[in-house]
Amino acid sequence: VKRLVLVLGDQLSAGLSALAAADKAHDLIVMAEVADETGYVPHHPRKIALVLSAMRHFAAELESDGWQVAYTRLDDPDSSGSITGELLRRAGAHDASTVIATTPGEWRLIRALEDAPLSVTLLPDDRFIASSGEFDDWAEGRKELRMEWFYRMMRRKTGLLMEGDAPAGGKWNFDHDNRKPAAPDLFRTAPLRFEPDTMTQEVLDLVGARFGDNFGTLLPFHYGATRADALAALDHFLRHQLAGFGDTQDAMLEGDPVLNHSLLSPYLNLGLLGPLEICQRVEAEWQAGRVPINAAEGYIRQIIGWREYMRGIYLREGPDYTAQNALGHDRALPAMFWGGETHMNCVSHAVVQTRDLAYAHHIQRLMVTGNFALLAGVDPAQVHEWYLSVYIDAFEWVEAPNTIGMSQFADGGIIASKPYVSSGNYIDRMSDYCAGCAYKVKDKTGPTACPFNLLYWDFLIRHRERFARNPRMGPIYRTWERMDETRRASVLDGAARVLERLDRGETV
Ligand code: FAD
Ligand code: SF4
Repeated sequence: VKRLVLVLGDQLSAGLSALAAADKAHDLIVMAEVADETGYVPHHPRKIALVLSAMRHFAAELESDGWQVAYTRLDDPDSSGSITGELLRRAGAHDASTVIATTPGEWRLIRALEDAPLSVTLLPDDRFIASSGEFDDWAEGRKELRMEWFYRMMRRKTGLLMEGDAPAGGKWNFDHDNRKPAAPDLFRTAPLRFEPDTMTQEVLDLVGARFGDNFGTLLPFHYGATRADALAALDHFLRHQLAGFGDTQDAMLEGDPVLNHSLLSPYLNLGLLGPLEICQRVEAEWQAGRVPINAAEGYIRQIIGWREYMRGIYLREGPDYTAQNALGHDRALPAMFWGGETHMNCVSHAVVQTRDLAYAHHIQRLMVTGNFALLAGVDPAQVHEWYLSVYIDAFEWVEAPNTIGMSQFADGGIIASKPYVSSGNYIDRMSDYCAGCAYKVKDKTGPTACPFNLLYWDFLIRHRERFARNPRMGPIYRTWERMDETRRASVLDGAARVLERLDRGETV
């Protein structure tokens, strides 16, 4: 009797545990493009196109490798529209009743497979460096789950940038060197672009016709769709951008949406690249003397530290994590997030870039859009849905802890020891946005005051009970108390007016 082997759209790895456990001669691989997956949030069309195109290419590679694949296309009139529906349909057609699958990344699908009226074996997803059991063992009994301690454990486990038991270069973390602003540089190399082949072009036609109303532009589409493409993108990054990655990691420039970031997250999250292979290549660049330690360490920390840590938190916290709202925020997500007009140059650039590329780098996500949503008290569930929809790399297991936890502090401080909030000052220091803005970043009060300056204090005062006792935030409250009364009143009054304008749907 045949077994079905499920391969999901973000499980496009030749070494996937489900494939390793399957029998090429007898088992049937099931892959399905289904409406449930393309529609659980209004995904950016570019994200849908990348996933479908990568799935089709992967299925073709499996077939040429001798596997039998039952592949459902999105426009298949017989499709049931869901993953479990397609498993049932294929089981009926092939007289199969057992399914092997690698455990999905997100709770929604884990639950769906557990509840399916089929015998489903879920195998661990061993494409991560830390198993969930390993993360839980580390987390057990700790008062605080700080990423830095987990990261050190991952460094020891992988041996990356280690000299015996000591960190290479004498320090675990070179972040201090990675906070420089950037200057425009016409010679900075752009990420590698791939021309769509026939298979990708078919997907682009389908996505253009079906998802044209979703937020985001589809064309020009220059993502790769295969492991070979992903490896080429990795080579390009190592060769041209890694050396500058650390220095400009937190910088933002109007005319340069990518700077020295790698744009590898989509390939990594789909399974076309593995975390360890990327980090080993990065380490080798440092060993060969081609990149400085702050770049190599900074990059490796993002992957074996932050990425693995976020997954550990997501799995540990369970399906209700996305509903957390520790600060009780309930404002509707302002229209500017969906491309509505705004006078704030930084937000405008981050959103326009997101619409046009389905990409913004970490500091734009955290310190521009995320910072604004948090300061304005936006409902974290709506913020979460936005991030899950608009980014090319957005899968809930990594997006939710970043949004709910790191960015919105909605988990009450599991991930962040204090909220990531800042006034306009930070954005001014790290970007060139303020020069072209209708607001003045130096104005702390008055009609042209930067909204970040006003909302920053309003947020801190609204949540004084919670944060004033935080040792890292106490000094900020003392600065507030030292301000004269009239100035304080004028700041809070200005903030109230910004919030009223948001609530009335007026341009801010
Ligand atoms: P680079 O700057 O080149 O970093 C290298 C790699 O490190 C990335 O490819 C990514 O795999 C990993 N990485 C870096 N930071 C993080 C992080 N905080 N968490 C997990 N991995 C990280 N990342 C996603 O992959 N999917 C998401 O849906 C996602 N949503 C986010 C939402 C918010 C509110 C915030 C603040 C961050 C989010 N991130 C998400 C993390 C990070 O912004 C992206 O991984 C990064 O911008 C991807 O671009 P890149 O490949 O050019 O990254
Ligand atoms: Fe953003 Fe304020 Fe600077 Fe304008 S002045 S770009 S709103 S930080």
